[in-house]
Amino acid sequence: MTDTNTVSHSVGTAGDRVDLKTMDRAALADFVAEHGAPRYRGDQLFHWIYGKGVSDFEHMSNLPTRMRQGLRRDATVEDIEIVEQQQAEDRTVKALFRLPSGREAETVLIPAIDERGEARRLTVCVSSQVGCAMGCEFCATGLMGFQENLTPGAIFDQVWHMNEVAEERFGRPVTNVVFMGMGEPLLNYDAVLESIDILTDEDSLNLSAQKVTVSTVGLARRVKDLADDGLRSNLAVSLHAPDNETRSRIMPVNEAEKTSLPALKEALQYYFEQTGRQITYEYCLFKGVNDSEADAERLAEVARWAPSKVNLLMYNPVEGLNFERTSEAQLDRFVEVLVQQGVTVTVRRSRGQDIDAACGQLANDDA
Ligand code: SF4
Repeated sequence: MTDTNTVSHSVGTAGDRVDLKTMDRAALADFVAEHGAPRYRGDQLFHWIYGKGVSDFEHMSNLPTRMRQGLRRDATVEDIEIVEQQQAEDRTVKALFRLPSGREAETVLIPAIDERGEARRLTVCVSSQVGCAMGCEFCATGLMGFQENLTPGAIFDQVWHMNEVAEERFGRPVTNVVFMGMGEPLLNYDAVLESIDILTDEDSLNLSAQKVTVSTVGLARRVKDLADDGLRSNLAVSLHAPDNETRSRIMPVNEAEKTSLPALKEALQYYFEQTGRQITYEYCLFKGVNDSEADAERLAEVARWAPSKVNLLMYNPVEGLNFERTSEAQLDRFVEVLVQQGVTVTVRRSRGQDIDAACGQLANDDA
């Protein structure tokens, strides 16, 4: 593509047209350069798409007319659209998005409300895939199986739209992003890292990388890749069991040696050596499965693998799955053991349970 000629490209196409929302800043610059236009035209495209939310080339007024014509013919900017939005009693908002493929993904906006009733933090929980291949026994999304990887643009769009919802409902923008919606982010590795680059670009939403958290079941090889690729965001590991046997029972991914707890231990230690950043463990308590005092002792050992903190979650039962919520008394005993062992622990109360927006509850109705 020159400023005056046509555009063609073979990846990320919508029909015959390339979807520019599959590209981050560098890829857009490469794309225009490959077609003979100066690289700064890529920056201009980036600004329109990710800074202004514009998807119609006609409105990209600083691009030459002939370039816009070429783009219209040969490229597209695929948006996702909100098809349904619900607000829970605690003001958590869940949105259902339709992707260009027609499939649907869910996103949740979680406000942390202060004593004056104002949102001091607004966190978007994004999906990185439709469905999930990991098959964790306690998870509604796992029941769907894997259906689709989201593009960097589709991940960005979830935050962009929720940012508008945040401004409308809470009078301030989104402050945090967590990859804890549908899917295993590290199985859509490139798109997730590209979406973080976009979200933290000062020409886009300009979020702080330290306010973004990638949450994984613990794919050891990919955890090492994150360290090598210089992830600037936080890493959370969905642990949910402190020993190999229990973990394999509830999280099939743990059965393979290369993704078992010993492999994860090695990867997390490597990650800490390379990045110097502490690890967050997510640990959901299931009655009679992983909530004993002995489990807490074992969890404390895991927490010492590298500097870390533990987030304890209370389970939100999912219809058709055989897991129960632990009692408050058992939670207290569990926390007591961890504190005695010197573990930094926070109990996270799930939000949005009345609209199935809490952790592990995200799944389309046909799941
Ligand atoms: S808990 Fe996360 S990794 Fe496991 S099945 Fe659900 S979405 Fe996938």
